[in-house]
Amino acid sequence: MAGYKKYIPEAMRLKEKQKELAERKAAAKKDSIYLMMPRLREIDNEKAEVMIGVSRAAMAGSDYEAELERIRYKIETLQAEKETILSTKGLTSNDLKPLYVCSDCSDSGRKDGEICSCVKNMAKTLMMNEAAGGTVMDQCSFETFDLTLYPQKDKAGNNARQNMSKVLEVSRDFAESFAYKNLFFVGRTGLGKTHLSLSIAKVLLNKGIDVVYFSAPTLFMKLERERFSRDAMLSETLENALKCDLLIIDDLGTELKTQFTLSTLYHILNERLNSKKPMIISSNLSVQEIHESYEERIASRLFGNFDAYMFYGNDIRRIKNS
Ligand SMILES: [Zn+2]
Repeated sequence: MAGYKKYIPEAMRLKEKQKELAERKAAAKKDSIYLMMPRLREIDNEKAEVMIGVSRAAMAGSDYEAELERIRYKIETLQAEKETILSTKGLTSNDLKPLYVCSDCSDSGRKDGEICSCVKNMAKTLMMNEAAGGTVMDQCSFETFDLTLYPQKDKAGNNARQNMSKVLEVSRDFAESFAYKNLFFVGRTGLGKTHLSLSIAKVLLNKGIDVVYFSAPTLFMKLERERFSRDAMLSETLENALKCDLLIIDDLGTELKTQFTLSTLYHILNERLNSKKPMIISSNLSVQEIHESYEERIASRLFGNFDAYMFYGNDIRRIKNS
């Protein structure tokens, strides 16, 4: 299935932006480093002048080899001086180069004349997220997450705002570093679980990370359907769920529970945990309901391998709409 191909032009445009951003950041960093150590710019200029000598030597003809050797030595000396100066600040010349998201294609989107796999992954992500409801995605970001909607003292006497501000911080950190971690958001409907999951997704997508989002009912419905389709050896949805950089499953517990959904959920959890690929799962069920609804091997993974965060407070959707 190649439905994602129509998203390739858009993915290429995003790649271009990524490349620009990486190069702009590198140029700014270089400027600030050169400002601290002006000798570095002189070295660059001297190197450029020496390089001109190469073409001059080529034209002169006589003793070309000896001249080249002399030039090579000069360049190496200048480069060594540069590294020495940089090392006084704990830097190397690599720190002056752009930090590309994709090292395969340096964010050009092409490798060996072909479209790089990073572009294809991005196109797949774009397709997935349109399927998951792009409109919701548009409204959800860390900036629009409103902590004042959480009471400092809820009905049970808990400080819901303090709790949420911690969850918000964890989510931001996760989106910022994308260090390996699994998040499990537990709490009633309307407490911001989807909002935070999509905010994380948005930040990571902009970095070119392959994020796939599903609500649990959609995920299992698609998997069930593809299970019976004859032409797919491995279903596309399952492959995406297993291989993407970050898998988000929203509203776990609202899917139709069958032996198939349970064994597929276990398979996905197990595969991703084994290959250390992060997940964010949210559920409207209580901790007890999760233990009751899922077999022990699933519950123990959710509570043992995920950092679980409880969401509490008043129903945000009700407050917003009133
Ligand atoms: Zn690439």
